Amino acid sequence: MIYYKTEEEVELIRQSCLVVCQALAHVAGRIRPGMTGAQIDREAEEVIRDLKAVPGFKGYRGFPATLCVSPNNAVVHGIPSDHEFQDGDVVSVDCGAYLNGYFGDSAYTFALGEVAEPVMDLLRVTNTSLYLAIDQAAAGKRLGDIGFAVQEYVERRHKYGVVRELVGHGIGKNLHEEPEVPNYGKRGRGPMLKEGLVIAIEPMVNLGRKEVAHAKDGWTVLSKDGQPSAHYEHTVAVRKDKADILSDHSLIEAAIKKNPEVREVAVLNEAL
Ligand code: MG
Ligand code: MG
Repeated sequence: MIYYKTEEEVELIRQSCLVVCQALAHVAGRIRPGMTGAQIDREAEEVIRDLKAVPGFKGYRGFPATLCVSPNNAVVHGIPSDHEFQDGDVVSVDCGAYLNGYFGDSAYTFALGEVAEPVMDLLRVTNTSLYLAIDQAAAGKRLGDIGFAVQEYVERRHKYGVVRELVGHGIGKNLHEEPEVPNYGKRGRGPMLKEGLVIAIEPMVNLGRKEVAHAKDGWTVLSKDGQPSAHYEHTVAVRKDKADILSDHSLIEAAIKKNPEVREVAVLNEAL
């Protein structure tokens, strides 16, 4: 069952997404080699609670933290730990927040220090694929158009691996609602997108093969071949002509510009 949102509900979800992006912007300003996932997790929780919201992931199916912190070969769902980030790491940080009855969800992969250029390329292509997918989130398009956009650009054009086991999702009163939003698919297939649909679009892309493995902690998803992975996510509302992006990465990107230990990840000027 898909719940279509009213204008009022879309605005409430936007507020929750802004809380998430303020927490991620704080992380963007602070993250650096020598810091730990546990540290940024504590600070992100403080930002969220100062904004009178509640961490969206903490306690969700037993997840123990505010952030998912997934370095290097970790794809998603990493548990923040006391392991120090190293120069050259790429760290995916996913955050959710709950405010006034609605969830927001967004993610960003940070490049710390001297990241190898092929890994920077992976980050840029994954970030760009998110916007190519969002371009498809307009009324009258189909769900398959979103996944097709990611898969076509990431796999066919750039020869990376699109993770299949994890997908985007509807979002609102629940963190995960119908429909599932895969990052692969066939153009023109699947349910038609209608105004009021609010979805989290979140390509997860591996530098090497698309297959994943599961860590012993019961949460962390790893790339099976051990190569780096990237993850960018926006929550968007489907509108008549184009998507309305409810989360705001410009806050994160402004903080990165001021943090000399984090490299910027450009969105490439490439069309499908
Ligand atoms: Mg997320
Ligand atoms: Mg999500």
